[in-house]
Amino acid sequence: MKIAIIGAGLAGLSAAWQIHALNPDAAVDVFEATDRIGGKLYTVAFAAGPTDMGAEAYLAYRKDATEFFAELGLSESLVAPSGLPSQIYSGGSCHALPTDTVMGIPRDAASVATLVDAATAERITAEAAAPPLEWVAGETDMTVGQLVRQRFGDQIADRIVSALQGGVYSATADDLGLRATLPQVAQALDELAVAGQPVTLSAAVTGLVNARNAQSQSYNSQVFATFANGYAELYEALAEQSRARIHIDAFISSVTKTPNGFALSGAGDGVYDHVIFATPAPTTAMLLKTIAPDAVAPLKSIRLASSVVVGMKFADDTGLPDYSGILVAADEEDITAKAFTFASKKWPHLAARGGALVRASFGRFGDDAITRADEDYLVDCALDDLQKITGFDGRAAGLDEIYVQRWFGGLPVFSPDHPEAVAAVTAIIDRTPGVSVTGAWCAGVGVPAVIEHARATARSVVSGAGDPTS
Ligand SMILES: Cc1cc2nc3c(=O)[nH]c(=O)nc-3n(C[C@H](O)[C@H](O)[C@H](O)COP(=O)(O)OP(=O)(O)OC[C@H]3O[C@@H](n4cnc5c(N)ncnc54)[C@H](O)[C@@H]3O)c2cc1C
Repeated sequence: MKIAIIGAGLAGLSAAWQIHALNPDAAVDVFEATDRIGGKLYTVAFAAGPTDMGAEAYLAYRKDATEFFAELGLSESLVAPSGLPSQIYSGGSCHALPTDTVMGIPRDAASVATLVDAATAERITAEAAAPPLEWVAGETDMTVGQLVRQRFGDQIADRIVSALQGGVYSATADDLGLRATLPQVAQALDELAVAGQPVTLSAAVTGLVNARNAQSQSYNSQVFATFANGYAELYEALAEQSRARIHIDAFISSVTKTPNGFALSGAGDGVYDHVIFATPAPTTAMLLKTIAPDAVAPLKSIRLASSVVVGMKFADDTGLPDYSGILVAADEEDITAKAFTFASKKWPHLAARGGALVRASFGRFGDDAITRADEDYLVDCALDDLQKITGFDGRAAGLDEIYVQRWFGGLPVFSPDHPEAVAAVTAIIDRTPGVSVTGAWCAGVGVPAVIEHARATARSVVSGAGDPTS
């Protein structure tokens, strides 16, 4: 069996690993357009040590991911965060990140008391008794912003929910779909509707927060983990253990069906029985043009959000507050950054290097200009914003190293139309023998979700790869 995988990001490499684990005789070629593997996982060699400039953690309560890393022999590399809390910068000052919320949607007014005005607090309190939402279980959908603005007001949407969602998705609540990004909230609203109870946001969120609090009291689960030497440990292990032939600088511009299988333009030697597309949605659209033309339109409807990460290593961390990081409210006009991760506070293994390591993040969907901004401008914004928010003077603290990483189209925008687009593409691909798709756009944004989807895709390829000649 000869398999081509296009894209050597996490999805492509996980699929290659899984194919080899199931069928060591399969011949796998992985084609990567850039000069390195890893995609949105990227560990940069700072003088102080390897430092992630893309993803920097994963959800450790996803046991499947942790078990997979053990299978790769990487258990010893996994490290836990310090547990220091994060803050939100809003209204010109820092506030504790509210805990009794679902992605910033509060259970009650008390949970967000320091972040909103009295009118918003009253509105949250009154919501449970307000006319309920018109809600059709399993059907009604809208953006998270629409729901939150309608029920709890703009301050909750701008100051908390968009700050949190912007950190994960590089988009505000106004661009993100409820079912696509907060399916647990949609499901709780569905359940209220099915039970014939008033469908209110307070009731849905109260149920979710109470259940979560009860669970974490009994399991005391740690939320995040990462790799001591960065995500390179993962993508290099996957590449090596997959035994695949990995071709870098190998941009694939088209894939065509031949009488014996599939041919790849621009790279590859010969014909493949099966092709796995592990590329972002717009690239996948371009590559499927001739072999699955109906998939092009739904794939093209998936838009991408860009962002920039500025990594800064300071000689001295005196004065950097004891927080894991600070999110910036989306309505904070004087601040350009959307978030700061105080990596050396968040991760004890990075603190051990001495000094301070800070990641500043910029860019939300719809504002690509900042991703293209001049490097000096970005560094100045990072230092100025950091000083404005925390008082920490990065210039005086000795800026030893800087790395600016631009992520053009870094993340898919999980809009309200997203689940439908993914379902449409999946249905078409299921009817197209010899072709599979995987990657964050169809798996979900997090590292565990991408791995899970890629491995499942590889399993189905090995167990029952369609006959591309049929
Ligand atoms: C800044 C940032 C921070 C993040 N932080 C976290 C985090 O802390 N935790 C977390 O769980 N997730 C995080 N994520 C999300 C996570 O990193 C991604 O969802 C995941 O890495 C995506 O993997 P992928 O393989 O689907 O896509 P990609 O990594 O995009 O891989 C696709 C690959 O295909 C290649 N390619 C594209 N076109 C072609 C072509 N024509 N021919 C050949 N190759 C091609 C690309 O160069 C790329 O290498 C973050 C993402 C970003 C951008």
